[in-house]
Amino acid sequence: MSTVEDMETLNYVLEILRESLSLTLSYVTSPSKRAYFLYLLSSLLLAYYVYKRSGVKIPFFAFLFKKKIWLGKSAMIDYGFVLFNSVFKVILIAPLLVYSLNLTEAINTFCINSFGTFTGNWSVASITINYTITIIVVTDLASYTTHFLMHKIPFLWKFHKVHHSATTLNPFTQYRIHPVELLINNFRSIIIKGIITGVFLYLGNGSVSLLTFLGINILNFAFMFFGANLRHSHIKLRYFNFLEYVLISPYQHQIHHSDNEAHFNTNMGSRLAIWDYVFGTLVRSKDVNKLSFGLGARENRTHATFWNNLWQPFLPNSMSKRFQKK
Ligand SMILES: [Zn+2]
Ligand SMILES: [Zn+2]
Repeated sequence: MSTVEDMETLNYVLEILRESLSLTLSYVTSPSKRAYFLYLLSSLLLAYYVYKRSGVKIPFFAFLFKKKIWLGKSAMIDYGFVLFNSVFKVILIAPLLVYSLNLTEAINTFCINSFGTFTGNWSVASITINYTITIIVVTDLASYTTHFLMHKIPFLWKFHKVHHSATTLNPFTQYRIHPVELLINNFRSIIIKGIITGVFLYLGNGSVSLLTFLGINILNFAFMFFGANLRHSHIKLRYFNFLEYVLISPYQHQIHHSDNEAHFNTNMGSRLAIWDYVFGTLVRSKDVNKLSFGLGARENRTHATFWNNLWQPFLPNSMSKRFQKK
């Protein structure tokens, strides 16, 4: 290989590393990410509320920053996935995002060609409200369905297991996802959002305005602000009993991570709890007191390092105990 080619390769690798690093940093600086500093701040306040109510005797700082949770073996694997997936996203997933816009345009054109220009007279307000509700409900149902399948189909569980192999939870566990699952989730999201936006672009005669996206962002902001970060943590933030039929509380997601067989395949909702309620997989916080996380002793051992988590799903003999019993 010539020197020029060597330099080009080196530049390409450096560019990927630079973009990956800025993606990693954007976790803290972007309001669309859970680790955005403002959400961390609100999580801190909510954690303080839980701490005060729990009546534990250690200082708040020690309660929050337990070494085992932030610097333990499990946490290190989480950080490994944050970094690894940043590179993976820049190389493989970011280029896919372009197709979302293409799909939106294609759906809009398809509707115009099939049904003619839309003649209904929807106000901007009604388009905004309908689009926002549709996208929230449909994307949430789609993520429940994928999550449900990841738990029920042995082949998919092998990949999803990586998220469940965490034996301690901290906000970065959110990103402890096998690249294959990340790819599936991104595909799902691109297809669902592309189709819905395309249909509403048609219904609004091309005027799905910035306002609509703002509407979604406001709801997203509210979800993040009220403790999304505490879902992966040791802070047992529960919502009111009745509210846990509608929205998944942080503690309800912690129950989803339980290594107790009684809690397997429960609370698979992303934001809304209604799907779990409808399909009989809902467990509310009031019914669970003690929790420990992970896959159980045997599988925790096979998922004890970052590389194990990455390669384990590709091994032929890694059928989970969960499926052997049934
Ligand atoms: Zn799960
Ligand atoms: Zn989780």
